[in-house]
Amino acid sequence: MSTIASAAAHEVRAVGHFIGGKPVAGASGRTGPVYNPATGQVARQVSLASAEETRAAIRAARAALPGWAATAPLQRARILFRFKALLDAHIDELARIITSEHGKVFSDARGEVTRGLEVVEFACGIPHLLKGEFSDTVGGGIDSWSLRQPVGVCAGITPFNFPAMVPMWMFPVAIACGNTFILKPSEKDPSCGLRLAELLAEAGLPAGVFNVVNGDREAVETLLTDPDVAAVSFVGSTPIAQHIYETASKHGKRVQALGGAKNHMVVMPDANPQIAAQALMGAAYGSAGERCMAISVAVAVGDAGDRLIDTLKPMIAALKIGSGMTEGVEMGPLVTREHLERVRGYVDLGVKEGAKLVVDGRHHTVAGHENGFYLGATLFDNVQPQMRVYKEEIFGPVLAVVRVPDLDSALKLINEHEFGNGTAIFTSDGDSARKFSHSVQAGMVGINVPIPVPMAFHSFGGWKRSLFGDLHVHGPDGVRFYTRLKTVTSRWPTGIRGGSEFVMPTMK
Ligand code: NAD
Repeated sequence: MSTIASAAAHEVRAVGHFIGGKPVAGASGRTGPVYNPATGQVARQVSLASAEETRAAIRAARAALPGWAATAPLQRARILFRFKALLDAHIDELARIITSEHGKVFSDARGEVTRGLEVVEFACGIPHLLKGEFSDTVGGGIDSWSLRQPVGVCAGITPFNFPAMVPMWMFPVAIACGNTFILKPSEKDPSCGLRLAELLAEAGLPAGVFNVVNGDREAVETLLTDPDVAAVSFVGSTPIAQHIYETASKHGKRVQALGGAKNHMVVMPDANPQIAAQALMGAAYGSAGERCMAISVAVAVGDAGDRLIDTLKPMIAALKIGSGMTEGVEMGPLVTREHLERVRGYVDLGVKEGAKLVVDGRHHTVAGHENGFYLGATLFDNVQPQMRVYKEEIFGPVLAVVRVPDLDSALKLINEHEFGNGTAIFTSDGDSARKFSHSVQAGMVGINVPIPVPMAFHSFGGWKRSLFGDLHVHGPDGVRFYTRLKTVTSRWPTGIRGGSEFVMPTMK
């Protein structure tokens, strides 16, 4: 295995903010450590913004709003076209930054940048997406049309697991629609957001349209309560998503808050076990299971269970675990030691609860990286619905197999779970697939596709406690979320009949 690169190209010790078109050093005196998960060392210190520093970003976004909202959508799109070209040119640099702070393997980090870039491509079509509706002659000499206008200053609060893609689910659409934006990235991997801000500035985005405030709860609470913030997009864990939804809506903002997940993949007895197991390997252990669309439960139907376990075991044994910058590695470390211990604690709990531990990843070490945050891939069999390892989101490389007798029982199991983000079925039977996709209570469904993340021109979002709010992110729902609908009814002198009207106008 050879090393692709030893360090991030964009090495910075202190990570500050980006406000009003330029980098700004943190002034609160509060900082947090940013680790390189592959080595376990503190690589950087991130500034944690005070309420006043956060308000400075809100003021910059508010000041930039009138000019940006009045800029023609085509001109806004041209800046995004240039941004897209810069993302293409800097994809390796961005991926190295992600791997150095998140830990995921370099090729996966490149994939995440690409999925974000696809939202930029979607947003480049904004002149078309903002076209309204027009009705000629809704009454005598009266026409009516609807248009979509920007909401105002928008905030995005994002999780650690996709430091490039999740912000790009939000801001390309928001700014294309004529809004200004404040990003509050995860304090665990804050550098990528700043680099995106620099690239946007290089693409010609006016100062103040896109700002980055690094921080923790203090910055978030300011964004949720400040009267100058009109809309909040959040992606993260369910308890925080619920808090964001309740607090921001209480303060009169529109909110979309995407939460946690426990994604089930049903393996029918007629599914090819090799194909199903290969799909599960990537979906359960890719990015060390730190994906909101990771499969964490395999639901083996009928006699599929034994075949599935037997096929998975040698695949898990062959899984290459190591530093995300080492070529050929398939699974990197977890994001922090704290998270590693939490996931390990869940494996201990599963054993205590009586699940059968088929593969134990708790004591995995990587030679030369003994202090890195590594965990081996873990597999449980005979997991029961009342166990906490089944009910709760673990967010690590832990796959639970639950055995059920038939498809109806699989559906019942999934539909009774509190989360409803993504789900999948592996089968060679069209009827089973159709019944599953129709009846399952989840926002995103895969048929022989383990991680059915919608493309940028569709919208992404879950059901139940995986999403608080009405609208999903990016795609058509993204445009709806970041715009307000206005409907105009108009007549000119020839259509005016004269005299006052005291009765509701109707078409007779
Ligand atoms: P998290 O909820 O801990 O943090 C998300 C964001 O909220 C961060 O920016 C963080 O600084 C902020 N935050 C944390 N605690 C806060 C508090 N008490 N008050 C205000 N703000 C707070 O989530 P995470 O650990 O960064 O990310 C993992 C979680 O995100 C998982 O639950 C995963 O399922 C979820 N996720 C969901 C989706 C989805 O599309 N539904 C996508 C990615 C991640």
